[in-house]
Amino acid sequence: MKIAIIGCGASGMTAAISAIRNGAGSESITIYEACDRPGRKILATGNGRCNLGNECLEKSSFYTSDGNGDEFLSYLIHTFSVDDLKKFFESLGVITCSKNGYMYPRSMQASTVLNALIRECNDAGVCIRYSSPVSDIKRSGKGLILTVGGKEERADRVIVASGFGSGGFLPKGTDVTELLKGLGIHVKKPLPALCGLKTSDKKITAAGVRAAGKVTLFSEDGILGFDEGEIQFTKETVSGIPVFQISRLASVNLSKGKRVYALLDMMTERSYGEIVSVIRRIASMYPERSVLSVLEGILNNKLAMLVLERSQIPAEKKASDLKDVQAEKIVHNIKELRFEITAAEAFEKAQTMCGGVPVGEIDKNCSLKSDENIFITGELLDIDGKCGGYNLYLAWATGLIAGRSAVK
Ligand SMILES: Cc1cc2nc3c(=O)[nH]c(=O)nc-3n(C[C@H](O)[C@H](O)[C@H](O)COP(=O)(O)OP(=O)(O)OC[C@H]3O[C@@H](n4cnc5c(N)ncnc54)[C@H](O)[C@@H]3O)c2cc1C
Repeated sequence: MKIAIIGCGASGMTAAISAIRNGAGSESITIYEACDRPGRKILATGNGRCNLGNECLEKSSFYTSDGNGDEFLSYLIHTFSVDDLKKFFESLGVITCSKNGYMYPRSMQASTVLNALIRECNDAGVCIRYSSPVSDIKRSGKGLILTVGGKEERADRVIVASGFGSGGFLPKGTDVTELLKGLGIHVKKPLPALCGLKTSDKKITAAGVRAAGKVTLFSEDGILGFDEGEIQFTKETVSGIPVFQISRLASVNLSKGKRVYALLDMMTERSYGEIVSVIRRIASMYPERSVLSVLEGILNNKLAMLVLERSQIPAEKKASDLKDVQAEKIVHNIKELRFEITAAEAFEKAQTMCGGVPVGEIDKNCSLKSDENIFITGELLDIDGKCGGYNLYLAWATGLIAGRSAVK
């Protein structure tokens, strides 16, 4: 039996290893990879350290828009537990460690993970064809015909582990959505998730600043979500982990034509009244100083400049001249710094995608209900995890299941 795997990324390599360990002959497996080398994305994960899983594995760590997703996630977490994840990596010779629940290779090097996976595939004799994008899959009698670089190749089973190209590591012109549509799969439009958000402000004064805060997203329908942590500003975007965590909500709502806004609270630990008192106290201690220098005592100076700009108060205004209503305006812009969100960053900058192949289209073997010879894994599924190792978990877990099932 010939098993073709599309994509030599996290879930593709795991599927190959799983198939071999479940009895597939090495000569029967071919991985087709569009790039000229394997697992480029793995090297970029976890800032080069590869946050490969999370000790706290719960359904609530994942999102799916498909009603069937909940049941599938329960099954996945039950079938491939945190212990199973550790054992899988140990079986590849990789010891894992945990930092506040986030799991990494103990070496803290993503290359350890990639090298272990690729070594295992190579040692088992898996054929990996680089620079070999698959552009079409057709059903032909009981088998399948793949179009690879313009030539047709036959396979009995196909594991589609190609992801949607999040992170931007895919060669131009590789269109996975078309490939899936060709198979008659209704793909929910993939949208960027775990990414920064573009604002209508094209020159954010606080560009370059990283500061603790809370971000709340809302649309005309009300609050969409919120998160807290280190917020980062660039010239046109708000970013950082808390923004990443709720970015999917912006993607989804913008795609529905809703207007989306972000409200940033850049001083969560103090109430409005407390901040007004602090500003008033410092201003009365140093009446001759500028309002900017007063604010610099409590905020990053570029952030203070942005707050004054939004409050329409000149930075050089004397502290003694600051009126109560102006102090209140300043605090309003510290606690409710508002940005209109115009778009999520492009998928090339996103860590994953929301949308994809509805979970209802696959069974517990990760094979299509409409064709048991075709398997779908990893990012392609309409499941996306939060930051914290959940997306790689999804890739390993579905890769293992698909590889094992493809041998049956
Ligand atoms: C910068 C960055 C950091 C991240 N950090 C983390 C993290 O720390 N923890 C975490 O859990 N997740 C992280 N992620 C997300 C995680 O990397 C992905 O969820 C995961 O890699 C998805 O695995 P996959 O196998 O489904 O797809 P991919 O890893 O994208 O692999 C798919 C492979 O298929 C190939 N391919 C695509 N189309 C074709 C085709 N038509 N023919 C042949 N080959 C094809 C691609 O070139 C690629 O090699 C991060 C992502 C990015 C971009």
